[in-house]
Amino acid sequence: MSEKHIYDMIIIGGGPAGYTAALYAGRAGLDALLLEKLSAGGQMALTHQIDNYPGFEDGIDGFTLAERMRRQAERFGIRSKYAEVTELELKAAVKAAVTTSGTFYAKTVVLAMGAGPRELGADGEAELIGRGVAYCASCDGMFYKGKTVAVVGGGDTAAADALLLSRIAKKVYLIHRRESLRAAKIYHLPIENAGNIEFLKNTVVTELLHGEKLTGLRLKNTVTEEESAVECDGVFISVGRKPETRLVENQLELENGYITAGESTKTDIPGVFAAGDIRTKPLRQVVTAVADGAAAVHAAVDYLAENE
Ligand code: NAP
Repeated sequence: MSEKHIYDMIIIGGGPAGYTAALYAGRAGLDALLLEKLSAGGQMALTHQIDNYPGFEDGIDGFTLAERMRRQAERFGIRSKYAEVTELELKAAVKAAVTTSGTFYAKTVVLAMGAGPRELGADGEAELIGRGVAYCASCDGMFYKGKTVAVVGGGDTAAADALLLSRIAKKVYLIHRRESLRAAKIYHLPIENAGNIEFLKNTVVTELLHGEKLTGLRLKNTVTEEESAVECDGVFISVGRKPETRLVENQLELENGYITAGESTKTDIPGVFAAGDIRTKPLRQVVTAVADGAAAVHAAVDYLAENE
């Protein structure tokens, strides 16, 4: 029977952190494998327009940027494998990733699974996905051409989603539980000027109104306690992210669900590194994720040298 292959590094997740780790691993001459569930890019691939990643003066869409990152890493010999990781064993010196396409072994692991959308927590939310409830405006926005939609949330994602949808839908309600948006100032004026975005401040969604499909939302004003309802064909839930730490929650130290790791990306298990949105950090952006990918490989190269 042939001996199992042990990679220098397995990178889990093909977002900007993962592909930057792959690029740096390739350039460092590591025998590395990147495991990705679906396609390159992670959350970034779902972003319609990225204007704050340097080097693209006109901005770039996330899908294209992701493909470029993948090709750049592959130029340095990194293999990407599309497989879903179902189990991780991180504690031993040789770490194992069990996937839908077999088990892979490595001396180091870079965890770059990122984060997924946070649910609103409303009754019927899961059942209405694809029938009026959505989490990605750039993916599902076109289904609501000429219709009325709502966006829930007050951060950058909600603001960007409302603006994107205002160019597709007839009318957009932007529903936020506070007095003003948390989103960066650059979004505020375009939202005011959009003409078809109605900002419902101090408002929470108390119920999803539906038959077979979503028909509207019941709302409550958090200041006056007044209840109301709006009719809409779709609601885009943009209330933040939750880290994809399910596979490691019993093995690694977490803080509010994020893997505890500083700028070095080192976790509390030697040889295991956390890069990008999945780790504790103050700013979750493409530009900070790529920095983590580079830092993780830098730390992993030191670890490999010390543990020859
Ligand atoms: P976020 O910044 O965490 O904002 C989440 C928003 O949802 C907040 O306004 C929050 O309200 C609200 N919220 C949370 N739970 C809620 C609930 N149960 N009901 C109602 N509202 C709820 O998340 P994000 O907008 O997805 O952004 C995540 C990260 O990605 C941020 O770092 C952001 O800067 C970055 N991002 C950047 C860009 C860009 O630069 N182009 C675009 C998109 C995202 P409170 O205000 O009350 O907390």
